[in-house]
Amino acid sequence: MTIPGDEMFNYSANRELESSAKVKALEALLIEKGVISSSSVDKILDYFETKMGPFNGAKLVAKAWKDAEFKSLLLKDCNAACEKLDMPTGMSGAEGEIMRVAENTSSVHNLIICTLCSCYPWPTLGLPPYWFKDPTFRARSAREPRVVLSEFGLDLNPEVEIRVWDSSGQIRWWVLPEQPSGTEHMTEEELASLITPESMMGVSKVVL
Ligand code: FE
Repeated sequence: MTIPGDEMFNYSANRELESSAKVKALEALLIEKGVISSSSVDKILDYFETKMGPFNGAKLVAKAWKDAEFKSLLLKDCNAACEKLDMPTGMSGAEGEIMRVAENTSSVHNLIICTLCSCYPWPTLGLPPYWFKDPTFRARSAREPRVVLSEFGLDLNPEVEIRVWDSSGQIRWWVLPEQPSGTEHMTEEELASLITPESMMGVSKVVL
């Protein structure tokens, strides 16, 4: 059996800048070849900033916190739950064909990753942040999730079980965070405003 050495996890410190330069070069080439137009990328980014984003996930979580029946549907069949609410059309497309939700409780904490690349539930969480796609985050979250979460500022009690969900091109996971105490009287809109993308990725909790 070969045990990978540390060099396997050595990546360039400038990898974000290097990736950005590669993307810019690729975009320029695709425009030059006539594959996409100069506004194509802007249109896609605008779509994921205004129609498909973490505000959809926050709405689903807030509803689940207020409505136990909706919560069980969300956990059983996320796509069916999306259809119950007034959501943008195409929630089950655009990288959200099969979405699954893992529930955080006082004894279980869930973390979503994609070890292979960057699979992410775009319709409910939007476009993933750079660090989600970073090779070091992906490798370390699978190997030592408790340490990585602590580096995010989330120190979980040792007795809390951590479950790491690896998304794929077929199934994309996200997290139903725990409702913070003292928010029981709040409306769905007020609750939704507390819910961050990070809490639905499992790298933070929802706080009042
Ligand atoms: Fe992926």
